[in-house]
Amino acid sequence: MISFYPGPSRVHDEVPTYVAEAHQLGVLEMSHRSQEFMALAEKTVLLLKKKLRIPNHYTVLFASSATECWQIIAQSLIKKKSTHVYTGAFGKKWFECTLAIRHNAEQYVFNLEEELGIDTLTFHESDVICVTQNETSNGTAVSYRYIKQVADKHPQALVVVDATSSMGGVYLNFNVADCWFASVQKCFGLPAGLALMVLSPRAIKRAKEVGERGHYNSLNRMVDMMRLWQTTHTPNVLAIFLLMKVLEKTDDIRQTEKKLAQQMLGWQKFFKNSRLAFLIKNERVRSTTVLAIETTDKRVARIKREAKRAGILLGDGYGDYKTTTFRIANFPAIKQREIKLLQDFLKWYL
Ligand SMILES: *Cc1c(COP(=O)(O)O)cnc(C)c1O
Repeated sequence: MISFYPGPSRVHDEVPTYVAEAHQLGVLEMSHRSQEFMALAEKTVLLLKKKLRIPNHYTVLFASSATECWQIIAQSLIKKKSTHVYTGAFGKKWFECTLAIRHNAEQYVFNLEEELGIDTLTFHESDVICVTQNETSNGTAVSYRYIKQVADKHPQALVVVDATSSMGGVYLNFNVADCWFASVQKCFGLPAGLALMVLSPRAIKRAKEVGERGHYNSLNRMVDMMRLWQTTHTPNVLAIFLLMKVLEKTDDIRQTEKKLAQQMLGWQKFFKNSRLAFLIKNERVRSTTVLAIETTDKRVARIKREAKRAGILLGDGYGDYKTTTFRIANFPAIKQREIKLLQDFLKWYL
């Protein structure tokens, strides 16, 4: 089965070989307090910084999931209040997760086709502004021009970005925000169970000011341990090893971004004037890593069913668009010939 599911998604072909290698090298039994682990953690972080162009003065931490990152941010970075800016289901979940911990979180939900401009929005009471950069549920994306505008206009606030389905697939200008996070089962082409948090010095300073140390994953504890290339608890060592191996072979992010953009152009041409349409009409807010394709619910059901028969797994619609859309991942691990195969299948429905 070829998976176009936007997470968990198709893993790189080399993953089984890397797992065997991990077994051979003793990685599966490796102590997370050993020199070997510290070397692995350090190497992985250095590779991440190099390949994704993360600024050197930023700190990279390991967590277990993007959902865990939502919780860490709520408990460890918010002083008084956060504002959540989003269009879809993942942004909403993040807001609700924060609301359960900090009862005064506020939300600003914007229209799917709307390109955000800062003129309309100011959040002066908030000290953390949460932006879902790539909304996996509906295939929208927020430009970092907007993220920068938000940051420039709110010097009192930390800007925190959920880049779960874009990090590793598109170039992110990390300098424009203070905290970015993603899990590895989307653009990184790896099995689930590991997430990355990327923090500016300002975010680390904020965590210190908040001074929260009541949880095993309190940000202050995580930062302290990472200074020794360690984690607060036994982490998913295998997943870190797999990430390191995949990164060794990964192109520079600008290269990857270019490849995905080209593939996206191919998809735009493919769906042009057909009965299968992009849910998002405004190209300026359309994601390049997750495609949401809209048609009648009858056809969606039929296409998904027939695709499965042809050995192709399409992403289900999500949230409000569950029955009227299907989703296609445009992630780096997916091969050109697999895209061709999917297009050969879909052309009968255009
Ligand atoms: C998948 C996804 C999540 C949740 O990731 P987990 O690793 O399952 O916690 C959060 N935000 C976005 C934008 C996602 O695509």
